[in-house]
Amino acid sequence: MDITSICIVGGGTAGWMTAAALSFKLRNSPAKIYLVESEQIGTVGVGEATLPHIRFFNNALGIDEADFMKATNATFKLGIEFCDWGRIGDSYIHPFGDYGQPLNGVEFYHYWNKLRLNGAANRLDEYSYPIMLAEQGKFHMPHADTQKIESTFGYAYQFDSSEYAKFLRKFSETNNVTRIEGPITHSDKDETTGHISSVTLESGQSVKADLFIDCSGFRGLLIEQAYEAGYDDWSEWLPCNRAIAVPSEAITPLPPYTRATAREAGWQWRIQLQYRSGNGIV
Ligand SMILES: Cc1cc2nc3c(=O)[nH]c(=O)nc-3n(C[C@H](O)[C@H](O)[C@H](O)COP(=O)(O)OP(=O)(O)OC[C@H]3O[C@@H](n4cnc5c(N)ncnc54)[C@H](O)[C@@H]3O)c2cc1C
Repeated sequence: MDITSICIVGGGTAGWMTAAALSFKLRNSPAKIYLVESEQIGTVGVGEATLPHIRFFNNALGIDEADFMKATNATFKLGIEFCDWGRIGDSYIHPFGDYGQPLNGVEFYHYWNKLRLNGAANRLDEYSYPIMLAEQGKFHMPHADTQKIESTFGYAYQFDSSEYAKFLRKFSETNNVTRIEGPITHSDKDETTGHISSVTLESGQSVKADLFIDCSGFRGLLIEQAYEAGYDDWSEWLPCNRAIAVPSEAITPLPPYTRATAREAGWQWRIQLQYRSGNGIV
């Protein structure tokens, strides 16, 4: 069966990322894409820290990095600093990059361990270019020449995820995604296939499509409520069960990394955007 219409349920980060990707990749196909979201229900909208893979996503959509960073108040991120996790006063940066390089087919850490046993090794961090940049509060684009040490890292961003959703909404609407506002009250299934065939909004409007993608967040409107796919509760293995997010003034100069600090109860994050610091305790 040819898919000629797609309905994305939900307009948080997941919904608008899906809409942006599909509308771009299917831009030369006649498929119609709808996205239903409800301002009344709202989004989570607090994510600020990302991993380098987000760049592959943006690049695949031809998104201009400068436009994206300006729209989302983004900063560059070279890694994550972990403070006080082993013992109070400990700190290390987990970099998005390499430590040294293999020599004669032997991994770098063997050489470093040998040097350490001989009392001649520097801090492991000093063999990581992105850690050295991060510690000095510096950033530059990785060098294109992979023989150069300045090429031995990747990077991510710290950004305002609500602004990212807005940015992707604009991108998607330019690529002909139709946004439909309002809470969905129920979904209907095709009697023969058992697949969802339409969703109906509080207003009475019904949206039919060949394919539905559930991006409704915690609610799992289609996956859980309609299909009862099953929810695995992991809370017995998760020692943290709540988070409080509090923004504060931006730090200058901007640290190009996220910080995660262990606390007596839970842990704390600090994520630097251009105009504010995102903080929270879990
Ligand atoms: C405190 C905290 C900090 C976090 N930090 C990070 C971070 O640093 N980095 C990171 O990557 N992630 C982070 N996350 C996770 C991230 O925020 C979420 O995974 C993400 O926002 C979820 O997006 P979503 O689009 O799946 O869901 P949501 O944002 O919940 O969006 C759901 C959408 O579905 C719509 N919807 C739901 N029900 C209906 C209905 N009946 N009718 C119509 N529309 C409906 C809503 O209107 C909304 O548009 C954090 C989360 C929390 C709680």
